[in-house]
Amino acid sequence: MPLHQSDSIILKTYPLGEADRIVAFFSRDHGKVRGVANGARRMKNRFGASLEPLAHSRIQFFEKENRDLVRIQSADLLDSPMKLFQDYDRAVCAGRIVELVDRFLPEREPQDAVFRLVRMTVTALKQGCPIQFAACYFEVWMLRLAGVFPDLFVCSTCARRLQLEDERFLAPGLQAVVCGKCDHRNASGILAEVVALVQRILKSQLNGDGGGADRAVRNLHELNEYWIRHYSER
Ligand SMILES: [Zn+2]
Repeated sequence: MPLHQSDSIILKTYPLGEADRIVAFFSRDHGKVRGVANGARRMKNRFGASLEPLAHSRIQFFEKENRDLVRIQSADLLDSPMKLFQDYDRAVCAGRIVELVDRFLPEREPQDAVFRLVRMTVTALKQGCPIQFAACYFEVWMLRLAGVFPDLFVCSTCARRLQLEDERFLAPGLQAVVCGKCDHRNASGILAEVVALVQRILKSQLNGDGGGADRAVRNLHELNEYWIRHYSER
């Protein structure tokens, strides 16, 4: 039974019997893993707040042969997400991050870029980054890292590189972009400010004072929702 240690982000926990918990965590070195934390449901237990959703914790666990579930030996809290759960909107956003990571990540596949994205988003939210912008930023990058976010800067018909100010449309199905010079009769418009917002998100880090025009953020969030749903249903 080899012992592993890895910085991890807690995703979800479920009660198991009277005293134990099943914990889904996103480990930096091993990807998404599920394990059992013995005694974690007891009032006094050695895990403390280290197994709360979105906690950043260093987890030691044993692999068991022929078992999907590992055994969690210890968990040391490195950074608490508690501040996020003190107001409703931030808590909803935090819940969504957990949900998307859980949905997009395959089991047991390390994804360092996603790990850094989650940490950056949680930190920015704790520092007071506008919630809708943080959610949008996270969604764009999560979709992009999953290979789902369409390239808004290349025409899918003529392969022309598009500048920010070039006219563009979303092809039917919203999975690709068509430029103004190609046939776009059945395509849908996309706001120039949404394209500018995407470019900014792709080029900058998220920090405490990020933000964007409300209309563009709302619009992009709706598109992200569409792509997330489409991904889940395929
Ligand atoms: Zn074109």
